Amino acid sequence: MSAVVTRFAPSPSGALHLGNARTALFSWLLARRDGGRFVLRIEDTDAERSQAEHIVALQDDLRWLGLHWNEGPDIGGPNGPYLQSQRSASYDAAFADLEQRGLAYPCWCTPLELDVARRSQLAAGRPPRYAGTCRDLDAAQRAARAARASAPPTLRFRVPAGRSIGFDDLVHGPQQFATDDIGDFVIRRGDGTAAFFFCNALDDAAMGITHVLRGEDHLTNTPRQLLLLEALGQPAPRYGHVALLMGSDGAPLSKRAGARSLGDLRRAGYLPEAVVNHLFRLGHSSPLQGLQLPDALARGFTLEHLGCAPARFDDAQLASWQKDAAHALSEEAALVWLLPAMPPGLDPAQRAALITAVRANVVLPEDATRWARIVREQPAPLDAAGRALLEAAGDAFFDAAAAAAASQGAQPADWPALTAAVRAATGAKGPALFKPLRIALTGLDHGPELAPLLPLFPPGAVQQRLLNARHPD
Ligand code: GLU
Repeated sequence: MSAVVTRFAPSPSGALHLGNARTALFSWLLARRDGGRFVLRIEDTDAERSQAEHIVALQDDLRWLGLHWNEGPDIGGPNGPYLQSQRSASYDAAFADLEQRGLAYPCWCTPLELDVARRSQLAAGRPPRYAGTCRDLDAAQRAARAARASAPPTLRFRVPAGRSIGFDDLVHGPQQFATDDIGDFVIRRGDGTAAFFFCNALDDAAMGITHVLRGEDHLTNTPRQLLLLEALGQPAPRYGHVALLMGSDGAPLSKRAGARSLGDLRRAGYLPEAVVNHLFRLGHSSPLQGLQLPDALARGFTLEHLGCAPARFDDAQLASWQKDAAHALSEEAALVWLLPAMPPGLDPAQRAALITAVRANVVLPEDATRWARIVREQPAPLDAAGRALLEAAGDAFFDAAAAAAASQGAQPADWPALTAAVRAATGAKGPALFKPLRIALTGLDHGPELAPLLPLFPPGAVQQRLLNARHPD
């Protein structure tokens, strides 16, 4: 069996959203699992909607996810170019070939004529499809149409009548389409550019793609693409149509206003391992448990486990993967991840120590910022329970605590000694000892361990906060 070649073929008309990222991940995993190749092709034939900045950004996003490609616009490869806008010569050659063999023909029907035909078909209860007006024109009729036309013709593919096109979808199983339901379709627009599914099918063949995984919204393009490849004598890949990804509100993520892009998650500080692990489980019922590295995910990826029902992206699940991914980071990686989240004015050693001290309590970098502020600037605002706890501990408790802190100087660093001194002076122990101290120092009754945090408070702050706790505002 020849090696698996998969591809991701985004249209650079916007930021990479999570649905597309999942399709890219599945395609990458399939190639990776079977020791095959993964190709990145940019489908930028729609010049008006394609933007260079999106081409750059989506490659950054894919790299960030760890989905590296073996062939693509930046690194080239044997079947380039990998930008469709640079492949028009091959499309033109295929148009000429089809036209010359009578398998495609020029069509001068105007949008108005097409609309009228469509309406009358609908009114007659028939599914709308091209009526065939320009299908069988002879040379003289064509010349007459061309002379009358105010715009250049489109090129239509001549769909063979009375056939059934079948394929075994990698996700949905056997599919059948009657060619009589399809109608001759446009493969070249009036402006000379190729239609999406034409370049898409041709490039898959030219790039030796063996397996296409893509969104379910492309399912009905597949019979057209199979007909085209057959007419051109080109090999067809196996196609698999992945169920769409929905938001928690049930609307497709791709169409949802405000849906977060991969870039949004990345800027918010989500870790690629979390995103990849979450996407892997969306619509893919794998028995693989726990946070996994991409290669382990690849080994556990099976097309049979891809479901047909729409999958729902779930913020809570992503947050849970993020927690696991954050905890799994090495000390060094955690520093890289959280350094930008540290407030200014700290020296490098303080920043590193703060990160180490708070990271167990960090899911997103903003949590690290919040803890750094609490330590370096001021405690979190007290809630009613916190205030009640401080009052219950009483003035004598905090006088003793402040004295214990002062005995260590302006920058107390020995938490066990401090707590032992308070216990000795007040008799408080367990939660009655630790909770009021924690609340006095941070404003909160939970958080990072205080021992490593103690030396990171600004000089004088520990004593001051303990004194302030006598009169909480
Ligand atoms: N450019 C198409 C898209 O972004 C690709 C479809 C396909 O994967 O075949 O939807």
